[in-house]
Amino acid sequence: MDCNVCRTPLGDPIYDAGSDRALTSLCEFRTGRTRVWSCPHCGHLRGEALDDTDRYYASDYRILLDQDDEDQIYEVHGERIVYRTDHQVSTLASKLALPEGALLLDYGCAKASTPQRLLAQRPDLQVHLFDVSAMYTAHWDRFVPPERRAMHLTPPHWEARFDAITSFFALEHIPDPGGTVEKVARLLKADGIFYGVVPDTFGNVADFVVIDHVNHFTPSSLHVLLRGAGFESIDIDATAHRGALVFVARKQGPRTPCPDVRDAVQRSLELARYWSSLEARIAEAERATGDAPAAVYGSGFYGAYIASTLRSTQPLRCFLDRSPFQQGKTLFGKPVLAPEQLPDDVRTLYVGLNPAIARAAMQPMGWLRSRGVQLVYLDGVPA
Ligand SMILES: [Zn+2]
Repeated sequence: MDCNVCRTPLGDPIYDAGSDRALTSLCEFRTGRTRVWSCPHCGHLRGEALDDTDRYYASDYRILLDQDDEDQIYEVHGERIVYRTDHQVSTLASKLALPEGALLLDYGCAKASTPQRLLAQRPDLQVHLFDVSAMYTAHWDRFVPPERRAMHLTPPHWEARFDAITSFFALEHIPDPGGTVEKVARLLKADGIFYGVVPDTFGNVADFVVIDHVNHFTPSSLHVLLRGAGFESIDIDATAHRGALVFVARKQGPRTPCPDVRDAVQRSLELARYWSSLEARIAEAERATGDAPAAVYGSGFYGAYIASTLRSTQPLRCFLDRSPFQQGKTLFGKPVLAPEQLPDDVRTLYVGLNPAIARAAMQPMGWLRSRGVQLVYLDGVPA
């Protein structure tokens, strides 16, 4: 097992889930054992590629294809919901001053919702799309002509063509990210810019255990990856998009230093300890609850993780979710309801949200406290 960023040989994994049932980033179960290795040289975290990576992304990985305008919630301000795609467009606009008529390629674009929404604001941009799957062409048909799209392979005349290439949540899935970033560098003009977003495993700890993320980038390993493909000026921002690293890498410009590797390794070990102890903490909460009716707040990854860890889902009455796209679905055979529809008899609510924001997100729901509902958080801090 080598580091898939810097090729350093790696020893034993720092994390082993100890079970053969794993969750994907789309909250589906896969047979496989989540293990994570830490690279002492570049600070990278890696898992193992799925046995059938190519087939998985060509057919199984149907991200947000259920509904045309389906999107994930980024955050909620009072009554206002900010969706992930909108946040991605505004972050891109704030970091990249794209010239009039710029040639832009979204690499590994899936549905290409971000460039589509960007085009609505910037119709002058010449947006191109590339993906390894043919599943998304019906979406692409709406806003990009066929000559600006490629599947599986990019055409030779795309070399050295683009002013900017974007990549939203794609590199974490790719077993050989170095090869991909070198390809991106070749498709860019001499002064081109590679702009991307990848999960930040320290900001969104779920990333550490999802089995389809073969890469968990840290600031140092992302820097080493981009530098290795010839990018000189590399800016990595862990605050612009919560739970993600946003990078701007330029082929020309002053060379930037690599972020601290030791810090990445240290935080990786802490994360491994967190996940190793979480299962035991959920089991303890389950014992305390007994057979009394319970529910899970959140029907995304963390909610699914809790339900999968419970010894019995029998006492679960429902999942709660603020997202209108989730309400009406079922998970583990239980309905996903709006928070206000929580059945009266539920006294235990497992909070299945990113632990970094969970307490703040639950704060406005004082009605839960006045009903005597006990909240179980995943962060290990007593409620
Ligand atoms: Zn490495």
